[in-house]
Amino acid sequence: MDLARFPRRRYTEGFTPLEHLPHLTRHMDGPHIFIKRDDLLGLAGGGNKTRKLEFLVADALRQGADTLITVGAVQSNHCRLTLAAAVKEGMKCRLVLEQRVPNSYNPEASGNNFLYRLLGVEKVRVVDLGTDLNAAMQAEADEVAALGRKAYIIPGGGSNALGALGYAACAQEILMQAFERGLPFDHLVCASGSGGTHAGILVGLRALGSRIPVTGISVRRSTPDQVELVGKLASEIRAFLGISGEWDPAEVVVFDDYVGPGYSLPTPEMAEAVRLFARKEGILLDPVYTGKAAAGLLDLIAKGYFKKGEKVLFLHTGGSPALYAYQDAVLRL
Ligand SMILES: *Cc1c(COP(=O)(O)O)cnc(C)c1O
Repeated sequence: MDLARFPRRRYTEGFTPLEHLPHLTRHMDGPHIFIKRDDLLGLAGGGNKTRKLEFLVADALRQGADTLITVGAVQSNHCRLTLAAAVKEGMKCRLVLEQRVPNSYNPEASGNNFLYRLLGVEKVRVVDLGTDLNAAMQAEADEVAALGRKAYIIPGGGSNALGALGYAACAQEILMQAFERGLPFDHLVCASGSGGTHAGILVGLRALGSRIPVTGISVRRSTPDQVELVGKLASEIRAFLGISGEWDPAEVVVFDDYVGPGYSLPTPEMAEAVRLFARKEGILLDPVYTGKAAAGLLDLIAKGYFKKGEKVLFLHTGGSPALYAYQDAVLRL
């Protein structure tokens, strides 16, 4: 796997930290818990989209674009980071925000929504669930073209084969850190949303010869739907990288037990996990992704799926700016 042949911008200096969580490990009395701090990636507020944007924005610049257009939920980390990348590159950025929960868009809301405004978004277009998002983004691109400019459309979550290279690169980074520290991990756990993180890290690990199983905690879809989404993306990444040979679809492992009533809707288990990481380790999770992924991690430890003596790496994909839009749920649920 030679990633150097793909144009890339750099938004983070060096590697993100890989840390042991001694207090949480002791508290759970199960496996050794480690965390990969991708919440500390570069661009405003950090998070996993930064790695994808390194490849996507390089492609946009290569094509001569001056405006980035993307789509996300009303409190989207991906939209915040795409906008931050545009600012850094001297580009403009337009956002299509999908109301996955009816009437959830509040222009005055805190969290990522506040940051859209602070970072100077050019335009926000709010659409309802069920809208053709590609068409909505294309309409924005046409508007930008009519102004004599050139837009580059980034798919939701930055999850196409190019963006997912960011997580193939992360797999390489993790294996290097594991080698340096003498840490043979038994499992990797991550949130699974638009799928680029899950698919990218899985393809990256296998391409580098690692057998570490990857467990994805779904934040939105049912297990069969998420397995299909991640599997399809994994095939696209492999084709894009020119990786041949057999691919076992059973590699894609997803648990959908922690979604609760739906995407972005708080659950007591999420709130408990967010409080536990904060109070045991001083680490801020988020209510929509890592809080639910951590709820999955903790429950799977309690059930003995991850066993005492094993080494489990939890991928912290970021998102803490959204905490400020969920204060009540996180403290009271
Ligand atoms: C987008 C996001 C995820 C999910 O990553 P995908 O690549 O979309 O599956 C997880 N955590 C946070 C904080 C995110 O913003």
